[in-house]
Amino acid sequence: MEQFRSARPDIDDTLDLEAFEAGLNGSIVLPGTPEYAEARLVNAALHDRFPALIVRAADAADVARTVALARGSGLTLSVRGAGHSLAGYSTNDGGIVLDLGAMKGLLIDAERRLAWAQPGLTAGEYTRAAAAHGLATPFGDTASVGIGGLTLGGGIGWLVRKYGLTIDALQAVEIVTADGRLVTASEESHPDLFWAVRGGGGNFGIVTRFQFKLFPVGEILGGALFLPATPDVLRSLVPIAASAPEELSTIAFLMPIPPAPFAPAELVGTVSLVMMFVWTGDPEAGQAAIQPFREVATPLIDIAMPMPYPAIYAFTAAGEQRGLAVHRSRFLDGLDDDAIDAILAAMASPSSPVAMLQLRVLGGAMARVPADATAFAQRDAAVMALIITPFEDPSSEAVHRAWTETLHEALAARDAGVYSNFLEVEGEDRVRAAYPSGAYERLADIKRRYDPSNLFRMNQNIRPAAVG
Ligand SMILES: Cc1cc2nc3c(=O)[nH]c(=O)nc-3n(C[C@H](O)[C@H](O)[C@H](O)COP(=O)(O)OP(=O)(O)OC[C@H]3O[C@@H](n4cnc5c(N)ncnc54)[C@H](O)[C@@H]3O)c2cc1C
Repeated sequence: MEQFRSARPDIDDTLDLEAFEAGLNGSIVLPGTPEYAEARLVNAALHDRFPALIVRAADAADVARTVALARGSGLTLSVRGAGHSLAGYSTNDGGIVLDLGAMKGLLIDAERRLAWAQPGLTAGEYTRAAAAHGLATPFGDTASVGIGGLTLGGGIGWLVRKYGLTIDALQAVEIVTADGRLVTASEESHPDLFWAVRGGGGNFGIVTRFQFKLFPVGEILGGALFLPATPDVLRSLVPIAASAPEELSTIAFLMPIPPAPFAPAELVGTVSLVMMFVWTGDPEAGQAAIQPFREVATPLIDIAMPMPYPAIYAFTAAGEQRGLAVHRSRFLDGLDDDAIDAILAAMASPSSPVAMLQLRVLGGAMARVPADATAFAQRDAAVMALIITPFEDPSSEAVHRAWTETLHEALAARDAGVYSNFLEVEGEDRVRAAYPSGAYERLADIKRRYDPSNLFRMNQNIRPAAVG
C-alpha cells in the first residue's frame, strides 16, 4: 500500500489514511491500484474523473467515518449508489467518493408487505427479489439504476400511475447526517427530514437503509407497440395514455428502431414511437387498454405479452450501457401541435443517429398525493419529456448539445418544471424549477438545520438558507 500512497503525497498529507482504513469495515481504493481504473468509473462517461480516494463502505459506521473524514479534510465528497447520476455527481476530481455499492442487504417481510433495503441495491436486484414474493416497489424504467439516487429524487417508473412515485412507498430512512449522527427519519421521527428526502436528493445526508412498502404485482402484460411516427400518433399519445385505467403506465421513446431479433431488417433505422408499457392486472383487460393506440395506427411491431414484472427491464437494457450522452428534460402540461411539429422536424435530422425523445404520460396515483406532502412537488405534471442524445466521438459533444438544446427549447411553451433526477449540471435556476410552490425555500430551511456548511453539495444542490 505504501507505494500507492507515495504516488499521491498530497492526499497523504491531508488525510491520515492508515488510521482511517484501520477503522473501516469496508475498504479503500487509491489511485495507482489495479482496482482504481474500474472503481472510478460512473455510468455517464462524460464525467471522466479521478478521485483521490474511493471508500467502499460496508455499513453505516463506515459511512459515518467517511463523513467525518470529508468534514475534517475539507475534500469534496461524492456519494455513489449505482453511479447513474446524469450530472456526474457521484464522482469528482481529487476528492472522496463514498461508494455504497457493496451495501446490498435486503429484508423482505412478505406478510407485512415491507422491505428494508440498503442503498447499494439496483432497481433490478430489488425488483427481482421482491418478485419472488409476487410483490414490487415502484422504481424506474432501467434495472441498473441505483435505488439510492432514484428514490431520493422521487422515482418515476413502470408503476407510477398505479402505485405512485418511489417516495410514495417510502416509510422511513436511516440516514447519516452532516454531523455524523445516524438518525431515523419517518412521519414520526424527524418529519421535516423525512419530507425533504422524498424528492430533495442527497442534500440532507447519506441514507444507509430505506424502508419501503411493497405492492402485489404478479404477472403483468408488458411490452411495446412500435407505432409509426406520425403527427396523429403523437397527438393521440397523451389523451389515450392519460385516460387509460391506472393499471397502465407507459414510457414512449421516439427513436429509430434498433436492430433486434423481433425487428424486420427493413424497419431498422425507421423512426418510430416505441410505446413501452406495463399493465398490472388481467392481461385481457390490458390488451383492451392498449387497443386505442392500435386503432390510431397499425403498429409496425406489436409485442404485448404476459411476463413476470422484472422482465420489462429487458426492454430498456440498452440504456444500461455506460457511454457519452447529452440529456435535457422538462415536465410539460401537454403536447400541442407546435411541439409535435418541432419534435418530428428535429427527429428528421438528429445530430446523432441514436438520439431519442422519451415521453412519459403521468397522472394516476402519483397525482393524488398533495403537492406539499413531499419535496417532490410536481404532482400534477401531465407529461415528462427527456431528450437523450448518445454519441461516440467526444469531440462532437458541442454539436449534440446544440441539437438537444434546440429541441428542448422548442418544448418550452408547455413547460411545467423539471425532475431533479433528469437534470445535468444546469445551474441554480433549473434546480429551483425542480422545486416549485415554495418547496425550494422549505428545503433550504431544512438544509440549514441539517447541513449548514453544505457538506453534501455534489448533488442538485439546495443552498442552506441564511440564518435569521
Ligand atoms: C439509464 C438511466 C435510466 C433512468 N431511468 C429513470 C427512471 O425511469 N425514473 C427515474 O425516476 N429516474 C431515472 N433515472 C435517473 C436516476 O434516478 C438518477 O440518475 C439517480 O440519481 C441514479 O441513482 P444512482 O444511485 O444509480 O446514482 P448515483 O450516481 O450513484 O447517485 C446519484 C446521486 O444521488 C445521491 N445519492 C445516491 N445514493 C444516495 C444515498 N444512499 N444517500 C444519499 N444520497 C445518495 C447522491 O447525491 C449522488 O450524487 C435514470 C438514469 C439513467 C442513467
